[in-house]
Amino acid sequence: MTQSVCILGATGSIGQSTLKILEQHPEKYSVFAVTAQSRIQELSEICKQFRPRVVVVPENKVQELQQYLAKLQLDHIEILTGEDGLVSVAEHPEVDVVMAAIVGAAGLLPTLAAVKSGKRVLLANKEALVMSGDLMIQAAKDHQALLLPVDSEHNAIFQCLPQNYLQIERNGQPKLGVEKVLLTASGGPFLNHTLEQLENVTPAQAVKHPNWSMGQKISVDSATLMNKGLELIEACHLFSISEHFVTVVVHPQSIIHSMVQYVDGSTLAQMGNPDMCTPIAHALAWPERIQTHVPALDLFDVATLNFTQPDTTRFPALKLARQAMRAGGLAPSILNAANEVAVAAFLEQKIGFLHIAQVVEHTLNHVHNGVADSIDTILETDKLARQAASSRIHQLVS
Ligand code: NAD
Ligand code: MG
Repeated sequence: MTQSVCILGATGSIGQSTLKILEQHPEKYSVFAVTAQSRIQELSEICKQFRPRVVVVPENKVQELQQYLAKLQLDHIEILTGEDGLVSVAEHPEVDVVMAAIVGAAGLLPTLAAVKSGKRVLLANKEALVMSGDLMIQAAKDHQALLLPVDSEHNAIFQCLPQNYLQIERNGQPKLGVEKVLLTASGGPFLNHTLEQLENVTPAQAVKHPNWSMGQKISVDSATLMNKGLELIEACHLFSISEHFVTVVVHPQSIIHSMVQYVDGSTLAQMGNPDMCTPIAHALAWPERIQTHVPALDLFDVATLNFTQPDTTRFPALKLARQAMRAGGLAPSILNAANEVAVAAFLEQKIGFLHIAQVVEHTLNHVHNGVADSIDTILETDKLARQAASSRIHQLVS
């Protein structure tokens, strides 16, 4: 029997890497559904190769998709639309595994639907967990979902933790001899830029990551270090620890993907070539291991590993994320929403690179923080934060 997989965000960077692994293991996995927001021709090519039962696209892309599918004689594939369509494939009874690889807040409801249906959920969409935090973790417990980290750092931490770590109640304190989590960061393309240089960097420069090939939004987040900030919050929720147990370590080679320190003086690291196929394959097959095309690490070739402290003067986003996690409640949702709006404005060349963190800070200071007691409250706050961030951007450019 094959495992039936639903890929939310199949045309993206993580979606493509996932398909690469599924292609390698047809005896283990079949594709039940794929979804995309754009790149409809590519989506139809995915349908041609993987023959899903259902495809989800926005309402205004249905006609285009129908035309491509007709040409490929794939008219029998069911087409669903919008958020309802995403939720319905994520919770479909025939689906065993959901790859949550939509970027941003748009992935929250479908990811949560997968969790609430008790699926094996491969979590790439970190923004969904940053926003919903405890609610998502509790839902996973209540519905016996297996929430497995795909983000390379969190996957590395998961691999370095004791097998039963996630089953232990912790309430902010690490257990089982764990003392600290060392979250590695490449430092992004501007690691050695001065503040003056950072002022004038362009979107094209920001999306060119030295080690990883990723979608535009996460690439900009890596350049501002907001990605590490979001990952810090992600780690606190996934592993139920307070933010002061997580130390960020800049490691420009991206060979060590993160580490766990133990009370006996041991530090365990997970290493590998920087290729998302490794954590995706790990989360897909866990606790087993399956083959990928990622070449084994050649340490003689790597030769040197460097480690430095992050500089939060040049990269304040990391500090803002830590503050938001410490403040708790709705602050991480406010941070995330403001960042999504600011990154989009930067990519459209409306604001400069350094404005991104300024917009986030301003939004955190102007949108009321409260208790994140329901998804509706979180979504309402997300909306308010987007409005506040947009009006700040408007002020900055006028
Ligand atoms: P991407 O931009 O390459 O792909 C995003 C996918 O989501 C696409 O299929 C797109 O069509 C779909 N999508 C975008 N907006 C949508 C919307 N409003 N509604 C529905 N679908 C939408 O992004 P990516 O790099 O693959 O990243 C996906 C997620 O994984 C992000 O949350 C990112 O932080 C996380 N992640 C990515 C990497 C990486 O190496 N790319 C690593 C770790 C974590
Ligand atoms: Mg990561």
